[in-house]
Formats: sequence, C-alpha cells, structure tokens
Amino acid sequence: MSFPTIKLNDGREIPQLGFGVFQIEPGDTAEKVKAALDLGYRHIDTAQMYGNEEGVGKAIADSGIPRDELWITTKLNNDGHGRDTAVSRLDESLTKLGLDHVDLYLIHWPQPKQDRYVETWQGFEDAHTAGKARSIGVSNFQADHLDRLAKETSTVPVINQIEFHPHLVQRELREYLQQHDIALEAWSPIGQGKGLLDAPELEEIAERVGKSAAQVVLRWHIQLGNIVFPKSNNPERIKENSEIFDFALTEDDLAAVEKLHTGKRIGPDPDDFG
Ligand code: NAD
Repeated sequence: MSFPTIKLNDGREIPQLGFGVFQIEPGDTAEKVKAALDLGYRHIDTAQMYGNEEGVGKAIADSGIPRDELWITTKLNNDGHGRDTAVSRLDESLTKLGLDHVDLYLIHWPQPKQDRYVETWQGFEDAHTAGKARSIGVSNFQADHLDRLAKETSTVPVINQIEFHPHLVQRELREYLQQHDIALEAWSPIGQGKGLLDAPELEEIAERVGKSAAQVVLRWHIQLGNIVFPKSNNPERIKENSEIFDFALTEDDLAAVEKLHTGKRIGPDPDDFG
C-alpha cells in the first residue's frame, strides 16, 4: 500500500499521510513506529521537543526499509534558535535518529518576541546546503512571519505546519499558503480526539459513508490537500487512520465539516508563545 504524495515547492514529494509521535513515551516509540511502518506508513513526524527521536531511529533501523522510501521530519527545539545552533541541534537529532539527513527540518515555533527566527532560518538554509536537511520548512508561522522570511532571506519554506482541524479552520492563513506555494501540514488533525469526534454532524456523515468520525475528518483534510500525521498508541486506530483512501466526501460533506469551526485553539497562540 502506498499513500498519495504532495509535491513541494522544491520539487520533492511528501506522503500526504504520516504518523505523528507527539506524546508517545520515549520507551514505547520504537514499537509504535514499527506498527505504523508495518501498516504501510512511510512518513514519521517527530521533534526534538518530543524526546523520542532515538525510538524513531530504532524503528527505522530495525525496519530494513530503504532510506529513500521514508520521509522523516524533525523540528528545532525552542531553546535552539540562532544560525549556528539550528545546525548543531540538527546534528544531534541526526545522531539520535541514526541518519545522515532528515527529509524535513522545521522551526517548531517562531517565538516572535525573541525575534531570532530570521537568523534561525539562515541556519536552516546552511543545513539544506550541507545536505543534512533535504527540505526545510516552518511550523506555527503566521503570515507576517513568512513575509519577513520572504523579504530578508532567499528560500521559501516548503511547508508550514499549523494547528488545523474542524474546530480551527484557518481559512486566511490557508489562502496565504496557497498563494505562496507553501504546503499546509495540519497538526492535531483530529483535534486530539477529545470533543470533536462526538459531533453529531460527523456521526451522521460517518454512518452514511460507513467510516468512523476520525476517518471522515482525516478524509476532509486529504480532500483539502492538507498533509496529516494523526497520532495513536493503539495499533487498531493506527490502521483505521490509514484507511481513508477508499471513499470520498461530497462538497456538502466538506462544507458541513467546515461549519464545526469554533476558532478555539488546542495549543498556544503562535504570536504569544515563547
Ligand atoms: P491528533 O489530532 O493526531 O489526535 C491524537 C489523539 O486522538 C490520540 O492521542 C487519541 O486519543 C485520539 N485518536 C487517534 N486516532 C483515533 C481514532 N481513530 N479514533 C478516535 N480517537 C483517535 O493530535 P496530535 O497528536 O496532537 O497531533 C498529531 C501530530 O501533529 C503529533 O503527533 C505531532 O507529530 C504533530 N504536532 C505538531 C505540533 C506543532 O507545534 N508543530 C503540535 C502538536 C502536534
């Protein structure tokens, strides 16, 4: 089984569905990532902050899957902003992952009050030139942060990974990203499960199409063109979350999911955080 890909502005292709490992215990990570790889997932989303890069690396090494069939993302920790630190922290990640390059390296949070994300991005360009990060991008960036990168540096991020789910449909930012050919990765794509998946509107669609509410929401992302990597510790759910390519939602279904928007964030406001 192989999942569809999205072509990025640097010409590379990323699997549209991956496996996220936020809040997976370091000691459990290798086993959970193995379960995902066994089910056909080839894209893993980790971060220095999650403390589980070694577990991801162990699962990769044990899998025997050729490196060029995998897409591995990690993210710079918030205390690592700065041109040189951005590169030295990636070196540490590569050691933990047991790899000589990642597919995608992201600035985890812009931390605008510290105002170091532009120099940090220059470090990302260095890491890219050195071949340590095949693609470089950002996470939790607002349009004005991206505008500054465009004015003051020479590389457009391939991706912005942002909080995006039916309760937080960031329409304006999504349009901005489309206009600038920056792909959208949706974090907490099923709103961390809580509350959202019980919405009667989702249950109605789910019953009609013979899928679960989680699958309906993930399918909505796929049809919007978003890249997603739902997290689960449960092998049944890891499997369920991958079974989203054998049905389609109608335009009315897509609109009904979008109507669940409340504007309430799970995570912090990127303008205030850090
Ligand atoms: P998610 O929306 O993927 O929800 C995960 C939770 O939903 C699970 O813990 C489980 O309780 C539940 N769940 C999973 N599958 C289910 C199913 N089929 N049915 C019912 N419930 C189910 O939330 P997340 O883990 O916060 O986000 C996914 C990934 O996004 C993370 O693992 C991480 O890789 C990334 N992320 C990035 C940032 C960032 O700042 N860049 C922040 C948060 C998460």
